[in-house]
Amino acid sequence: MTVVETRVGEAPAEATAGASTEVEALVPDATKLAVATTREQTSRVSQVVTLVAVIGPVIGLFSAMGLFWGVGFRLTDLVLFVAFYVVCGLGITVGYHRYFTHKSFEAAWGVKVALAILGAMTLQGPVTQWVTDHRKHHARSDQEGDPHSPHLSGDGFVGTVKGLWHAQVGWMFATKGMERGRVYGRDLYEDRTIRVVDRLYLVWVALSLGLPFLLGAWIGGSWADGVEAMVWAGLVRIFAFEHATFAVNSICHTFGRRTYDARDQSRNNWFVALLVFGEGWHNNHHAFPKSARHGLARGQLDLSWLVIRGLERLRLASRLRLPTAAQLERTPRTA
Ligand SMILES: [Zn+2]
Ligand SMILES: [Zn+2]
Repeated sequence: MTVVETRVGEAPAEATAGASTEVEALVPDATKLAVATTREQTSRVSQVVTLVAVIGPVIGLFSAMGLFWGVGFRLTDLVLFVAFYVVCGLGITVGYHRYFTHKSFEAAWGVKVALAILGAMTLQGPVTQWVTDHRKHHARSDQEGDPHSPHLSGDGFVGTVKGLWHAQVGWMFATKGMERGRVYGRDLYEDRTIRVVDRLYLVWVALSLGLPFLLGAWIGGSWADGVEAMVWAGLVRIFAFEHATFAVNSICHTFGRRTYDARDQSRNNWFVALLVFGEGWHNNHHAFPKSARHGLARGQLDLSWLVIRGLERLRLASRLRLPTAAQLERTPRTA
């Protein structure tokens, strides 16, 4: 494993030489912009709205599962739901986010392709689009130009609700995919393998629904079982993971603990971290964007990091990036 000398939010020293240099140079460095925070404290209204927004759908989903149990939701559906949620979700957290966006480790060719396909199976868009949007988020975090900040829609109750709506869903109809140019994603535009995976996006979408259908029909022995599995492990699973991921945009910039001074409103939220495999340790991530590990403190469960370590053990991943102990002690903050 490589421990890279990295200042908070800055490119590692080794990025000035070697094959990955060009890629590093393409990723904008948010800290150079010296961004001021937009607001010092999260308001009470915002906290209440946030709690309802994040916990409500989870309670709703589990209630529906309970109500339908044995009637339209069976053990096979549950197993397939969990399996597809975890495996495809890791395509986003390990793949789209930590590997493709931030280059926090290096991966074998097969792993790269698999992660791009699994990420696409969450229906969050082709990898190039996702990465360019996310790099822009880091470069312009919580200020003009951030595609999904909850803090740019005004103050008070209306502004708070509008902001959370924009960060959770609204941005997809307004600011998503605005950065398809090469400014934020030239490395991916110039990667022929990724271009092919991107062009086949609809195939991965079909697979994301077709696989649960075929597995459900095969295990249950009827087409009706296939449809049932497709609904739960396909449609409902896509909905659940999508909202869990978007909670990182809205909740983790509004509600939670700020351990590091990351010059934006990013926060650590254990509940979101649980739902999205460590991505909820979002303040840690904004402070150390190139770190392969987001759960930096003891007890901060980070499934994505465990998977990356596992890939390293299997020699499928290498040069994992981590902040040094000295960096971790820098700019601590209590809030
Ligand atoms: Zn963020
Ligand atoms: Zn990021």
